[in-house]
Amino acid sequence: MLDLAIIGGGPAGLTAGLYATRGGLGNVIMFEKGMPGGQITQSSEIENYPGVCEVVTGMELMECWPKQCMKFGLKHEMEEVVKVSHNEDKTFKIELLSGKTYDAKSVVVCTGSTPKRAGFEGEDEFFGRGVSTCATCDGFFYKNKEVAVIGGGDTALEEALYLANICSKVYLIHRRDRFRAAPSTVERAQNNEKIEFILNAKVQKVYGDNMGVQGLVVEQSDKTIDLKVPGVFVFVGNVVNNQVLKQDDGKFLCEVNEYGEIIVDLKMRTSVPGLFAAGDVRIDAAKQVVCAAGDGATAAISAINYIENIEH
Ligand code: FAD
Ligand code: NAP
Repeated sequence: MLDLAIIGGGPAGLTAGLYATRGGLGNVIMFEKGMPGGQITQSSEIENYPGVCEVVTGMELMECWPKQCMKFGLKHEMEEVVKVSHNEDKTFKIELLSGKTYDAKSVVVCTGSTPKRAGFEGEDEFFGRGVSTCATCDGFFYKNKEVAVIGGGDTALEEALYLANICSKVYLIHRRDRFRAAPSTVERAQNNEKIEFILNAKVQKVYGDNMGVQGLVVEQSDKTIDLKVPGVFVFVGNVVNNQVLKQDDGKFLCEVNEYGEIIVDLKMRTSVPGLFAAGDVRIDAAKQVVCAAGDGATAAISAINYIENIEH
């Protein structure tokens, strides 16, 4: 029986592992389907992780995290978890894609979320080199430059407003002339003189060279618009990686909100005792490395308290 099973080995999962093992839990496995590090390893430049003063790549930032965690006894299995369910005694059963199963007294779900891609030409090729899904992360690289934002939901409009504080101009490109975003947010964006709306428009392609994006071609009714922007921000929705909590009856093991985000309290406790969630997969996540790491630490401390309580 594991003391703690950690699902996902990004910043949240790794930090949960560090705090759980250093905090005294003896039998902790982190299940990560790929290499530990998480989605930040796709980023070419990070300059907002506190204490790291140079600009580093995601790979560089995450390089020593697994080593630091393993030092205190965290075990890592490169396995995909397919399901977490309850055993009759209220411990948890962890089912792996390989067919193996484990039992655990407590679980922290740290499976992250995945921004959707819009599907235009060049989007994948230039991802991380001008195409971004994170304004907080990458907006500063376009200080006083022009950028484009794609999408018509709350995220696109809010991030366009955020970028308008940094950039000289923001083109907001949406495929319709109606928005999913809250009317008040749309109004704020419309009243912002730095934001120019390009509506009923379809992104055809981004283009550039080895250095990155140089522009974006958009089709709008019978005309083609060539925007010479070095930065393109895509906000067309998110997929929350919550599938491991889906039960055979289609319901989730714990409560999730209408977007599938796991509902937690300030101690990262879900609605099910012993089950915790941390990082991008939880409600109201700021979707930043430092926040995911903080969540992981909080969740591990809560798991240690939970185990202490059930055993005494
Ligand atoms: P993730 O990092 O998504 O990690 C989840 C892990 O779980 C993944 O490794 C995944 O393989 C694993 N996993 C998922 N499902 C399973 C399963 N069923 N079984 C086993 N393993 C599973 N943040 C910043 O603070 N600064 C930045 O500059 C910045 N730049 C970014 C640039 C890019 C291109 C991207 C994509 C993100 C950026 N972010 C940045 C956001 C940051 O990466 C995330 O907020 C952070 O990684 C979230 O950590 P997490 O541990 O919650 O999830
Ligand atoms: P969303 O509401 O699903 O909006 C996605 C937007 O992207 C839509 O406008 C959609 O266009 C567009 N889109 C989707 N696929 C596209 C494609 N392939 N090409 C071009 N455009 C595409 O996603 P979100 O904005 O990330 O928000 C997710 C949820 O979180 C929403 O329910 C939102 O309200 C909520 N949220 C709330 C807040 C807040 O309350 N402050 C902040 C952020 C997010 P169509 O409209 O034509 O479908």
